[in-house]
Amino acid sequence: MKCHACSKGILSQKTKQHVFTYRGKFIKLDQPGLWCNSCEEGILNGEDIAKTEKSFDEFRSNVDG
Ligand SMILES: [Zn+2]
Repeated sequence: MKCHACSKGILSQKTKQHVFTYRGKFIKLDQPGLWCNSCEEGILNGEDIAKTEKSFDEFRSNVDG
């Protein structure tokens, strides 16, 4: 699948370290999804998001804590 963001790269299913930000803090999580091999864009489905949802929730609680 071709990347719609850069139209140069190819999207493929893989897990990569993705930076999530919340209120100025950030965390790196292993995010599965369709990732471009040329730019930073990716397509995540519900299942992919569910994989990191819990860790991101915990991170947000820590930031809010
Ligand atoms: Zn791309």
